Amino acid sequence: MKQILVTGGAGFIGSHLCARLLSEGHSVICLDNFFTGSRSNILPLIGHKFFEVVRHDVTLPYYAEVDEVYNLACPASPIHYQFDAIQTVKTSVMGAINMLGNASRTKAKILQASTSEVYGDPFEHPQKESYWGNVNPIGIRSCYDEGKRVAETLFMDYHRINNVRIKIIRIFNTYGPNMHPNDGRVVSNFIVQALQGQDLTIYGDGSQTRSFQYVDDLVEGMIRMMATDDSFVGPVNIGNPNEFTIRELAEKVIQMTGSTSKIAYRPLPHDDPKQRRPDISLAKKRLDWEPTIQLEQGLQKTIEYFKGIV
Ligand code: NAD
Ligand code: UDP
Repeated sequence: MKQILVTGGAGFIGSHLCARLLSEGHSVICLDNFFTGSRSNILPLIGHKFFEVVRHDVTLPYYAEVDEVYNLACPASPIHYQFDAIQTVKTSVMGAINMLGNASRTKAKILQASTSEVYGDPFEHPQKESYWGNVNPIGIRSCYDEGKRVAETLFMDYHRINNVRIKIIRIFNTYGPNMHPNDGRVVSNFIVQALQGQDLTIYGDGSQTRSFQYVDDLVEGMIRMMATDDSFVGPVNIGNPNEFTIRELAEKVIQMTGSTSKIAYRPLPHDDPKQRRPDISLAKKRLDWEPTIQLEQGLQKTIEYFKGIV
């Protein structure tokens, strides 16, 4: 049994990860400040004898004797990370320093939930880990993108200088149950809008692409990455390479929900990446991992979840 700290454990991905780690017999500390996470996500876990919830902000130091840390604390949806952009940078940067400090002290392995946003609006397609990205350092997405880039830098420097046992994964657009209905990201927005008979809001003309990964595939990838030996630190892309336009996604959601909703076009936000698709050769080779749940099947599970809460 390992003692595992999950920062951002009450969030969408964190709650699935905590559940999976508990089911494997580990002891889990879920640390969260509940900015975008919620108690309802972890309600089924409360009362489990090896599950502990700590309300704490990662911008402040935290000390716990642990074997592994998954560092997920950070708002991930554009509307939430732009709500208090300075706090977003602090969460990524100071959060990384504080969690790396504790990992260094306890000799724990620590995995950083980085993002495909480090590639920005990419010139290389699909994106390989060797691509350095095309990121605007002063735009409205920069608090998130640059915060995550600095966090990667910190992870690498703590590894090089202090021999901290790090792992970096770059997560591509992930969806599934436990996303907040007002999260603001495209999959949850479209499903909630379709179920409520509202117009589906496409930003821009809907020709921009994303590659959507179901959360269970991601959690499997995270666990496999954590289990690799210390010499493999990443970064490694974890995502589903099947690419869709946002218009295709809207049409699929309308069809699968049987909704009478129409599509409404809204202005495209600044710096919205035009295309995104992971090259997952490295994950296949080093983790023997690839996604198993394709969009239709994942959407079905997510639609069922939202039917129960909206
Ligand atoms: P989420 O917003 O549901 O979860 C983030 C969690 O972190 C929430 O529970 C929130 O309350 C917590 N948090 C935020 N700031 C904090 C702070 N200062 N101290 C402590 N807790 C704090 O988002 P998610 O989709 O579950 O994302 C989890 C992680 O995965 C994030 O780091 C995100 O950047 C990364 N990621 C997610 C995606 C995706 O598509 N979902 C893609 C790339 C990367
Ligand atoms: N998007 C959209 N309608 C929405 C929410 C998002 O058309 O209601 C678009 C958004 O402009 C982007 C894509 O969907 O092009 C994915 O957005 P999301 O916020 O989910 O993730 P990210 O932009 O961070 O990849």
